[in-house]
Amino acid sequence: MLLEPIYEEALPISAKVADIPGIGPRSLTRLEKLGIVTIADLLTHFPRKWQDLSHLVSIDQIQAGQEVTIRGKITDIKNSPYFRRVRTTKALIKDESGLLKVTWFNQTYLEKSLPVGSEVVLSGQIKNYKDELILQNPIYEFLSAEPLHTGRIVPIYPETKGLSSRLLRKYIKLVLDNLSSPNESLPQATVKKFSLLTNLQAIRQIHFPESLDDIDKAIRRLTFDELFPIITKVQQMKAKRASLKAPKIKEKKTLTKNFFRSLPFTLTIDQKKAAQEIFNDLAVGQPMNRLLEGDVGSGKTVVAAVAILQMAEAGRQTALMAPTTILAEQHFETLGTLLELFSVRVGLITGQKIMIGSNAVSANALAEKIKKGEIDLVVGTQTLIAGKQKAKFKKLGLVIIDEQHKFGVRQRQNLRELDKKVHLLSLTATPIPRTLAMSVYGDLEISQIKSKPQKRKKIITKLFATDKARTMAHKFIKQELNKDHQAFVVLPVIEESQKTELRSVKAEFDRLRQDVFKDYKLGLLHGRLRQEEKEAVMKEFADGESQVLVTTPVVEVGIDVPRATVMVIENAERYGLATLHQLRGRVGRSNLQSYALLFTSSDNPETIGRLKNFTHLHNGFKLAEMDLANRGAGHLFGTAQHGFRELKLAKLTDTELIGAVKREVLTMLDEDPKLQNFPIIREKAEALDLILHEE
Ligand code: ADP
Ligand code: MG
Repeated sequence: MLLEPIYEEALPISAKVADIPGIGPRSLTRLEKLGIVTIADLLTHFPRKWQDLSHLVSIDQIQAGQEVTIRGKITDIKNSPYFRRVRTTKALIKDESGLLKVTWFNQTYLEKSLPVGSEVVLSGQIKNYKDELILQNPIYEFLSAEPLHTGRIVPIYPETKGLSSRLLRKYIKLVLDNLSSPNESLPQATVKKFSLLTNLQAIRQIHFPESLDDIDKAIRRLTFDELFPIITKVQQMKAKRASLKAPKIKEKKTLTKNFFRSLPFTLTIDQKKAAQEIFNDLAVGQPMNRLLEGDVGSGKTVVAAVAILQMAEAGRQTALMAPTTILAEQHFETLGTLLELFSVRVGLITGQKIMIGSNAVSANALAEKIKKGEIDLVVGTQTLIAGKQKAKFKKLGLVIIDEQHKFGVRQRQNLRELDKKVHLLSLTATPIPRTLAMSVYGDLEISQIKSKPQKRKKIITKLFATDKARTMAHKFIKQELNKDHQAFVVLPVIEESQKTELRSVKAEFDRLRQDVFKDYKLGLLHGRLRQEEKEAVMKEFADGESQVLVTTPVVEVGIDVPRATVMVIENAERYGLATLHQLRGRVGRSNLQSYALLFTSSDNPETIGRLKNFTHLHNGFKLAEMDLANRGAGHLFGTAQHGFRELKLAKLTDTELIGAVKREVLTMLDEDPKLQNFPIIREKAEALDLILHEE
């Protein structure tokens, strides 16, 4: 039964779902599971698809195989006895043109809910059963002026256990019937220019469209609502940054030249270009905010190094933050070696180790030197910016964040606290697609290293599904190990659980150690090990003391083990393409031929297609674009980063629309910089946490 409108007064969009009589405590818990707490959450729980059940068919017109909606009267309904654990409810429905048999399986309550004489609408598929056409397991609804579940275009929602689309539909309808009209959030001029629906119209239509065209129009309007606050925020940040000052650093060209000459290789064109772009930024006197994107192994470190060198030459300090201790140490060593010749003084600070050059020192000793400006580069983990050992710099000029996507909002905020008037260089192997970068990331400059240093071979990538293939893969790994190469085996979870059939790192480690690889030395790595244990395991592997590393995806983050040539990725279906690509990038880091062997137990054709595609794609940027198109930006950027999770409708690949919104936003900000007339956009923009260099 439909709930009647229950409010005397209209319901404000800010109300909570808990305030609505008629939604019980159990439903509230389930709604919360879907992230729905407020009315606004409920209304933006958009359908994942729509089913067009609007075409009524008369019974004499039906054909086998058809999806139909039939309107008529129940003239007979009865439950049959159990047969092979199934109880069938058999009914007859009659319209002006004839009679049709209907059956439902294991829904015996229907005998009572749809008594003889009920006027109903049924939607389902016509089957040919023993030469007779029947309607099997249809959705049902009582005939009414405003059908919800049949006889119309019906929304299908992301569901959770105990909260079906049917129930969600009911709640959303209830809310829509009682909702007060919200104020227009967008500039009138924009609404007019793009012939947009009002927000309320759009919300109504996206849930209960009258036509397919309604859906398009609704999505268009709601896309504007999604993009406006983000683009507003980006433009505000950009304006803010333009008003800040940061040290003006002029590149010493001979120094750059000498540094490049000191390297055992020639830089690629992209590396040189990226360095040049950084120098250009540093010379302006405003805080740089540049993202250096390049596939794993593309050589971002030397580019960072030359920036550090120029800073040091100008008497400015650099702080480099890495997401893990291992990586921090690796950077410390690499950069120390690269920059030693040029008398750059380098320090390391992690939870485990504090060093200056090749000497272990006390925390105080390092802190003192940083404060006096006697250290040019400090490499560290987040201890660099948080906790007791937080560094105080004499003349900080540049902050570098490696693998920036690995840092959460909190850490980025801490970093921001370090000093607002410094240059910021972020390094990432997650390629942010150009389309996205140029439009939405308006506050961020981007350098891309697209080509890899020469001589690298493509990583041969294959997809497998069977145990037999796994046995072959293990055999193959042994051959590699016997050539003194190394291998990764990546598993999605730490422990087996009854809920899923995912392979676990612990079980696999035991199995491989006792059986397949009993003659080799194996390492076990996962996120629940203590930090020192992780370090030790990783170091053993990096030093070649262990030959196979059985690990969860923690290994994704950038460690360099040149002799690792094989990676097995179990349950590959669990990962986005960009993540898979990063995992794969742990091998193929020398001129040895490397292999990525993906295993999946999925039988979903879409998933298999996606993974198959991956096996012959090697361009990180392309893969990220595909992720973006397939799974949305949230998946690309991981957790709560960048506010992009909020984007449910906007297609970030639609540059044209994004460009249009950007122009509208600029006009709005021009006329009303404080957004006094646009409180909704102002509040939403304020709530967003985007990138650094905002206050
Ligand atoms: P990433 O971009 O993943 O951080 P790195 O900076 O660690 O990559 O570089 C990977 C490896 O490639 C390092 O061993 C580095 O010395 C080497 N390398 C960097 N640039 C070049 C180049 N132009 N030619 C050859 N090797 C290079
Ligand atoms: Mg790196």
